[in-house]
Amino acid sequence: MSTTILVIEDNEQSAYLMRYLLESEGFSVVVAREGRHGGELAARLVPALIVLDIQLPEMDGYAVAAALRQNAALSHVPILAVTSHAMPGDRERVLASGCDGYIEKPIDPEPFVEQVRRQLAARSQMGLT
Ligand code: MN
Repeated sequence: MSTTILVIEDNEQSAYLMRYLLESEGFSVVVAREGRHGGELAARLVPALIVLDIQLPEMDGYAVAAALRQNAALSHVPILAVTSHAMPGDRERVLASGCDGYIEKPIDPEPFVEQVRRQLAARSQMGLT
């Protein structure tokens, strides 16, 4: 069974690119286009990792991360935040909301895949996956 990654991203092109890159690496990818649905899918699937866009309609990525972190069943699931408006303090805010890592748009394929692998490896070293 392949490793499932949940991508919560409203931008169609970004979602397409992330799906392509992750599937090319052998991961199974499920995409949600807004936060509430993303949270429902996360609870149902318990993915190995969640890629979370911060700029989402209605519920933003900070709120989604905070909600995900309230679900004990998802406490071990790494969340990799993606943002296109990197401002001073964003990184701190992302980490404070419960995310484990942070990358900026536009998605640069190699560092993106590397970050995903690093987050997955960190979790498996802790014996949690
Ligand atoms: Mn967005």
